[in-house]
Amino acid sequence: MSTSTVPVFDPVALTQSLIRCPSVTPADAGALDVLAQALTALGFVCQRMTFSEEGTPDIDNLYARLGTQGPNFCFAGHTDVVPVGNAGGWTVDPFAAEIRDGKLYGRGTADMKGAIAAFVAAVSRLMAEQGAPDGSISLLITGDEEGPSINGTRKVLDWMAERGENIDVCLVGEPTNPRVLGDMIKIGRRGSISGWITVHGTQGHVAYPHLANNPVPRLVRMVSALLAEPLDHGNDFFQPSNLEVVSIDVGNPTTNIIPGEARALFNIRFNTQHTATSLEAWIRAKLDATVLDPARDGADADPAAFYTLKMTESGEAFLTQPGPFSRLISDAVQAVTGMTPELSTSGGTSDARFIKNVCPVAEFGLVGQTMHKVNEHIAVEDLEKLTQIYQQVLTGYFAIGGRI
Ligand SMILES: [Zn+2]
Repeated sequence: MSTSTVPVFDPVALTQSLIRCPSVTPADAGALDVLAQALTALGFVCQRMTFSEEGTPDIDNLYARLGTQGPNFCFAGHTDVVPVGNAGGWTVDPFAAEIRDGKLYGRGTADMKGAIAAFVAAVSRLMAEQGAPDGSISLLITGDEEGPSINGTRKVLDWMAERGENIDVCLVGEPTNPRVLGDMIKIGRRGSISGWITVHGTQGHVAYPHLANNPVPRLVRMVSALLAEPLDHGNDFFQPSNLEVVSIDVGNPTTNIIPGEARALFNIRFNTQHTATSLEAWIRAKLDATVLDPARDGADADPAAFYTLKMTESGEAFLTQPGPFSRLISDAVQAVTGMTPELSTSGGTSDARFIKNVCPVAEFGLVGQTMHKVNEHIAVEDLEKLTQIYQQVLTGYFAIGGRI
């Protein structure tokens, strides 16, 4: 393709166009149209797909590819945003994309429409300066990252696998920097599972406990056992895993009734020393060992009869070993910002947890300080720097023929 035929996109203007689409999950509000239009002008082939599943809203997604040969460098992200929250707390219109004192305000500026605009701007500059790359560049963009994440990246990856559509490496544009652009690259994420314990007892009069079966002492013992010792002490790339009990519910307001049921809810953020399966086995063993009351249950009582445990996994822990890919990003960050970014696995989950099954994945984006808050904003100059970083990553990747 001739270098003169492609437009060069301004990351600030493109971010503003995306922010002005109020794409609060599951709404798209035209955001993917804005993106697809820009990508089409650059020569990308855009595939739009709407996924559905009973009990969840339909979601629009986009996979766009420039070029047909390998290697295929993929940028991934989401155009959906969280709600504005306390609308009265905003001092600007959350969807007006106003610039004040060098800051661009709006829901989704940091998380993560700014990074998506920087993806596109970086590709457009690369095309203008060097022409089409020796390989392919793709964008995998979902509208379901902040929601249930059922009709989003996971299904786009399935759709790609069915068609033999391959990506070789993936950079996710989540806001990874805690304070300053250049602070942090994420090379992995902790896993997350949640558990609901329900202890079954028998309701009765508080003065006749032998006629009732109080689930509260059982639950207290069980929860204490879960908290008694740390899950691990962390490792080179991960902080220690953490089990957080977030609720204990009996719902009994009456002092003369023994309640019939007691419940607890917990979440575990875990590192690569565990899997969801190994943790569930550990939890069941702890609960089985503590649910019984030896004084009244008898030696051959079945622990399983006294409680139920329901667990849901929302992602396994993963690590992309530091190596050529993290170095490529790190070098680009350093060249543009002068900072040496920390390689981290901290924070919550992201769609990288699905992509890691397909290819090496790392994350680098804007400063996340105001994400999900009122007055979410980014520094305008950071958008320019991020565009330069992404462009440099692309240039470096294709210069080595994608061998990372
Ligand atoms: Zn995000």
